[in-house]
Amino acid sequence: MFDYLIVGAGFSGSTLAERLASQLDKKVLIIDKRPHIGGNAYDRYDDAGVMIHQYGPHIFHTNSKPVFDHLSQFTKWRAYQHRVLASVDGQLVPIPINLDTINQLYGTNLNSMEVEKFLASLAEPREEIKTSEDVVISKVGRELYEKFFRGYTRKQWGVDPSELDAAVTARIPTRTNRDNRYFTDSYQAMPLHGFTRMFENMLSHKNIKVMTNTDYKEVIDYIPYKKLVYTGPVDEFFDYRYGKLPYRSLKFQFETHDCERFQSAPVINYPNDYAYTRCTEFKYLTGQEHKQTTLVYEIPQDQGDPYYPVPRAENADLYKKYQALADAASDVYFAGRLATYKYYNMDQVVAQALTLFTKIAGADEPIVTTARTSVHHENGNGLSNGRSKILTGAS
Ligand code: FAD
Ligand code: UDP
Repeated sequence: MFDYLIVGAGFSGSTLAERLASQLDKKVLIIDKRPHIGGNAYDRYDDAGVMIHQYGPHIFHTNSKPVFDHLSQFTKWRAYQHRVLASVDGQLVPIPINLDTINQLYGTNLNSMEVEKFLASLAEPREEIKTSEDVVISKVGRELYEKFFRGYTRKQWGVDPSELDAAVTARIPTRTNRDNRYFTDSYQAMPLHGFTRMFENMLSHKNIKVMTNTDYKEVIDYIPYKKLVYTGPVDEFFDYRYGKLPYRSLKFQFETHDCERFQSAPVINYPNDYAYTRCTEFKYLTGQEHKQTTLVYEIPQDQGDPYYPVPRAENADLYKKYQALADAASDVYFAGRLATYKYYNMDQVVAQALTLFTKIAGADEPIVTTARTSVHHENGNGLSNGRSKILTGAS
């Protein structure tokens, strides 16, 4: 009998599995329908031997010391500051918009104070900032909005920024200094040996069994368990009782080139041209040295694996109905980006899972919050000590 059956071996499921097993001594079975652990953060070496992120570029960044410390039990890190260029008006310029972006784009030589005034002269103040269009136009005006945001957002989400919550484009700040980093969080780093290795270390515990290639629906009636943690799409769990919740999908197009470096930045955004939104060259992220290089282009789609909840009022209303069902489901916990319908980054998902763990532990029994030690398996597959097993079900 398992104490917990966990559906989904991404950040949320794996974080909970590890805490329940190591801190509460619970017996856990974690299941994923994909042939691997790691969820959307899964990385692997491609046929050329270049490390890629199978579901698009994942860059770890957080302001949360507890989250960073927690994950640091399972990986060493490689310091990495992410940078992105946008292809606009035939030039490659830094995004988020900063002093250099403006000077490059307009052929000017403004300083910080001058650029602040320039942007203020373009900005169209809005009484209320409700949509993703309001956010940008109220800060930098319509022209820059159209150059950098409108086309990208329409491609990415399939709707106009005026129909999306403000929070979506609010992820991208505007700067009047020369800081050209994509993120400014206090912790920015990539797992030294990749995300998958970090997940292997997390799940390498004698109380945890891992079963991949298995949709939980195929086995749930045969597996004895006490409680369920579900991290898949919440509407699917309830058989779409109130209709489908929109999730945006992506098609990933990988290309390997016979050169060490292909493009001039880790990511290049294409707001106005092509069907893809951006192109990532993985070696910048991973620091791998290799004579070839692999890139991925992301082409947004309506159909396909659910990757992004779509933040807009009508979807939040529909989610609330599912949330009420989730709240009423006894002995089932919902966690993660798909199950709580939140446009969360990896660190936010980990924070959410740790909070849920504290709640479970509080309701269950007193917890001993000790950190686990010696779980780095930097040379093996992380499972070589025989403490955990990957069971591969029929696909
Ligand atoms: P997932 O990783 O989606 O895990 C859920 C798992 O549940 C999946 O593996 C799925 O196969 C499994 N599952 C679903 N249904 C079933 C079922 N019926 N039976 C069995 N298993 C099931 N975050 C960052 O912090 N930085 C980034 O740079 C970043 N880049 C991103 C780029 C892209 C293209 C995308 C899509 C996301 C990005 N994210 C990034 C967000 C990050 O991927 C998520 O925050 C995180 O992976 C969510 O973890 P999760 O466990 O909630 O969900
Ligand atoms: N965005 C944009 N232009 C850009 C970069 C981002 O319009 O050059 C908007 C777009 O709506 C995007 C959102 O800002 O979906 C958030 O961007 P982020 O890079 O955080 O997206 P993610 O990495 O989550 O796909």
